[in-house]
Amino acid sequence: MTDRIYNVAIDGPAGAGKSTVARRAAAELGFVYVDTGAIYRAVALAVLDRKVDSTNEAAVASLLKDTNVKLQWEQGVQHLLLNGVDVTDRLRSPEVSDASSRVSAFSAVRCFLLETQREVARQQSVIMDGRDIGTVVLPEAQVKLFLTASAATRAERRCKELREKGLEAHYEDVLRDIEERDYRDMHRELAPLRQAEDAVLLDTSALTLAQSIDETVRIIREKLAL
Ligand code: C5P
Repeated sequence: MTDRIYNVAIDGPAGAGKSTVARRAAAELGFVYVDTGAIYRAVALAVLDRKVDSTNEAAVASLLKDTNVKLQWEQGVQHLLLNGVDVTDRLRSPEVSDASSRVSAFSAVRCFLLETQREVARQQSVIMDGRDIGTVVLPEAQVKLFLTASAATRAERRCKELREKGLEAHYEDVLRDIEERDYRDMHRELAPLRQAEDAVLLDTSALTLAQSIDETVRIIREKLAL
């Protein structure tokens, strides 16, 4: 094992398999997996719980003044503490998904969460997944990957994931939700979803999960000469 700190950025649209691929690749390489979507989801949950209007930037910014978001790992599993309470299990509902992509367009929210992400990556070797990791959060990351798949493939995968968690999922609704979120993520003014110039593009539409993980690990090892 080396004591160098490595930063790997994985960006891409919702449902491209980023989280599963990043988590498994991190386990294989002995890096910490950081799911940055969770922190945006936590802010969205705070907004929903406090019945703040998620389209009102000033109201959301004001809520942030007494909001604390912290990432923790227990046996390699990421937990999200919102004002000291573990809310990890409440972050994946469609309501939170929708609100998270709305509040993530606000500069107050992105600024508020930026240092949390950078601090985690300074402390240890990470594979961090999100939308703007290679472009904004960790522009110096030694490896950048842009993971994508067709919208239909992504909707099928997200349905399966929701059902496995015991949540209800209708394909048409999930597809529409994914397309809307993609549009918002790609067209927002601040830190829009886009492939960094120095990122490797990996389209997983025709790959199995195992193949996607193998290819990701191969690219990372090659780039880091591990
Ligand atoms: O990845 P996940 O679907 O959990 O992210 C939830 C939402 O948070 C995304 O739709 C996106 O709008 C936002 N997000 C972001 N930047 C990141 C990670 C997530 O804007 N780095």
